[in-house]
Amino acid sequence: MRLLIVGGVAGGASAATRARRLSNDAEIVMFDRGKYPSYAVCGLAYYIGGEIEERDDLLVVTPDLLRNRFAIDVRMRSEVRRILRDSREIEVENLDTGETCRERYDKLILAPGAAPVEVPGYEIEGVFTLRDIPQADRIKDYIARTQAKRSVVVGGGYIGVEMAENLRRMGLDVSVVHSHEYLMRPLDPEMAVLLHQEMKLNGVKLFLGAKADSFSRDDSGIHVRLSSGRTLDCDLAMLCIGVRPTVDLARDAGLTIGKRGGIVVDEHMVASDPNIYAVGDAIEVVDFVTGENTLVPLGGPANRQGRIAADHIFGRDSAYRKTQGTAIVRAFGLAVAATGCTEKVLKERGIAYEKCYVHAASHAGYYPGGSSMAMKLIFSTTDGRILGAQIIGGDGVDKRIDVLATAMRAGMTVFDLEHLELAYAPQYGSAKDPINMLGFVASNILRGDMKVAHWHDVDDLKRKGAVFLDVRTKDEFELGHISDAMHIPVDDLRNRISDVPKDRPLVVYCGSGLRAYNACRALMLSGFADVRNLTGGWHTYEPTLEKESPSPKEEAMATPKQEKSPASEEVQAAVRVDACGLQCPGPIVKLNKKAKDLDAGAVLEISATDPGFATDLPAWCERTGHEFLSIERDGAKLIGRIRKPAAEAKPAPTAGAAAEKNDKTIVVFSNDLDRVMASFIIANGAAAMGRKVTMFFTFWGLNVLRKDRAADVEKGLVDRMFGWMMPRGAKKLKLSKMNMAGMGTAMMKRVMKQKNVQSLPDLIALAMEQGVRLVACTMTMDIMGIKREELIGGIEEGGVATYLAHAETSDVNLFI
Ligand code: FAD
Repeated sequence: MRLLIVGGVAGGASAATRARRLSNDAEIVMFDRGKYPSYAVCGLAYYIGGEIEERDDLLVVTPDLLRNRFAIDVRMRSEVRRILRDSREIEVENLDTGETCRERYDKLILAPGAAPVEVPGYEIEGVFTLRDIPQADRIKDYIARTQAKRSVVVGGGYIGVEMAENLRRMGLDVSVVHSHEYLMRPLDPEMAVLLHQEMKLNGVKLFLGAKADSFSRDDSGIHVRLSSGRTLDCDLAMLCIGVRPTVDLARDAGLTIGKRGGIVVDEHMVASDPNIYAVGDAIEVVDFVTGENTLVPLGGPANRQGRIAADHIFGRDSAYRKTQGTAIVRAFGLAVAATGCTEKVLKERGIAYEKCYVHAASHAGYYPGGSSMAMKLIFSTTDGRILGAQIIGGDGVDKRIDVLATAMRAGMTVFDLEHLELAYAPQYGSAKDPINMLGFVASNILRGDMKVAHWHDVDDLKRKGAVFLDVRTKDEFELGHISDAMHIPVDDLRNRISDVPKDRPLVVYCGSGLRAYNACRALMLSGFADVRNLTGGWHTYEPTLEKESPSPKEEAMATPKQEKSPASEEVQAAVRVDACGLQCPGPIVKLNKKAKDLDAGAVLEISATDPGFATDLPAWCERTGHEFLSIERDGAKLIGRIRKPAAEAKPAPTAGAAAEKNDKTIVVFSNDLDRVMASFIIANGAAAMGRKVTMFFTFWGLNVLRKDRAADVEKGLVDRMFGWMMPRGAKKLKLSKMNMAGMGTAMMKRVMKQKNVQSLPDLIALAMEQGVRLVACTMTMDIMGIKREELIGGIEEGGVATYLAHAETSDVNLFI
């Protein structure tokens, strides 16, 4: 047996060593055009960032080891140019000498991997892709040599996320440009926003829904031109927009290439020629859930496939059992993991599913040092089979995703998850492990014990007249809630059940869904017919209200450690509070208690692992009159610092409390450019004078808040027609007078630019930065069929009650 292998890294080296373990006599020759066989591709980004200090640590296996231990003839710097199927030969060029030779095979394994997708102009100095050690060397060298400060990472998949983290670690300014609205394809949007928050918290600027069209370079640096027309300037750009299977050899030899662009193989990895096998990133695999061909360029599958190909060649009946796409990546302090299908994929295939969320601690809450996890389970509504899972959090994410991936592989259902007996001691887990919890919640849904509503149903349910019942504590409610929600803490519900309307649909929510479940059951058993639990509660819903551009507070949070001013370093914390492992509102409750005993002017430092704490802390300070100093990431922890005011704090007025009447309220009814500009100029002026300003957008005014791109939402014909007829966003508005088929508007915009008058989008951004509240009228949204996804980020929704509540504390109330 003469076995030739093309490609000597993950799939190729795995096939070669397995083949040797099955046969002492076979002649095994492995060709690779690179310099290093079987190196640690997956460590490249961390070598660039310096976390892997020694370059040699990447060279897991040397050619000598393969020769000595496995008697494999390793030919590096050897490029296979052609496969001659008739004579069962390959043509190989030695890249060092330029010599070409032919090698005969009995069996041939192709493991040529994949190549990064490119963008015009990428071959200029300072623009890199990352696939092998020489490329990693070049990037490291370039940064050191040029002292690069600004970087743009194009592509927000896992390699883009890894590179963003490592460039940030090296002190570079990092912007990530990603063509979709959400980072990382294996995540659904409501999970991806948690990753967005983490990236922003660590100083990464995100440009989502933006495509990089081309790169250019001049004396001032590299310019990345986006499809929106915007240009990002930088010193270094990384192109991480995905990979394409390397199939030229196979295609030229007439082997079958599939619709997804990979080599087609059977379950034994045999290509369309019985003597040729193919494995790894170059092939199409069958998706475990959908049964369709797909591309999954990951190290685990490549290694297993190499082994299966060798098995089959040496007479074993090994078969590849499809791919789940199980993956995990670290993003600063978070682990982001997924297995199986996303909702998007299931929807496209018409596969019926339901989903649930659990927000859990990595281990028992009473034992110190735990961290939070947001978990999502997607399961079949017909038989409860697990179809996919996504988890984001600190410790313990890896083990939970692996348990779910294993359960999925074994064909288990959510009912089986209830019964999994998982290891428990307080340092490692909980008596009811988060995996069991997912099983309980999903089984409750399928058994009909609890109806659910989802984060994306909120607007629709509001329009249909549903009452939202918030059963969290007063503190949690005041830190943020669904607008117009009714508030009855779960512990008061049984005494106040008569306050809850019985004749309207009811959506109950709490922080994560557990207290709401208890409330739902109490209500259902008391005769309430239409009760739903908002799955994942406020923790799942709130991040979906993510703002598009970072607020000044987020910018402050994003300030990296090394940029902290020396003065702030000097402030000694009088009290340190450890709130790690506590779920919301735990950290805030603990903070509240400790702050009471704090001396005036003293600083308190608190560490927490609840991801929501990053936004809760500034909000708590605002409400209680404490000074917000900073919040930073330290591994999986958030470290926040606040100062108690010198005099007794005067809390910001809250709903119901008597407040000073100097706020401003503006009803924006018009969508004429000039009128809307005037309203934003007034709003910004008032905000600059320290006044609280609320702008309520109703009827035509609502168009101001629309995104300029169509959102991916389902609509009826009438709603679609409304959408077409009305201006889409601030850039499309026209003057109320002298519009002259758009000429007047264009002229006005040009004059405004010449005179340095800010454009309307800039005025809107400034208003948001200044904390002006922009409220979209829910009644108008309903009439015009405008969905929340169609509005720009950072917008609240509200009805007339919301408007009146603000108007009552205002001394100026304008209708424009
Ligand atoms: P490769 O490992 O790419 O090997 C292919 C080899 O074939 C190359 O050395 C190439 O030079 C050679 N070759 C191609 N054509 C020829 C030819 N004609 N003649 C000779 N030689 C040829 N996966 C994970 O699961 N987890 C991770 O954390 C992870 N991190 C990654 C980080 C980075 C930066 C990158 C780039 C990839 C990462 N991956 C990760 C993906 C993983 O590395 C790949 O899925 C895996 O290496 C694919 O194995 P393969 O054998 O198909 O191809």
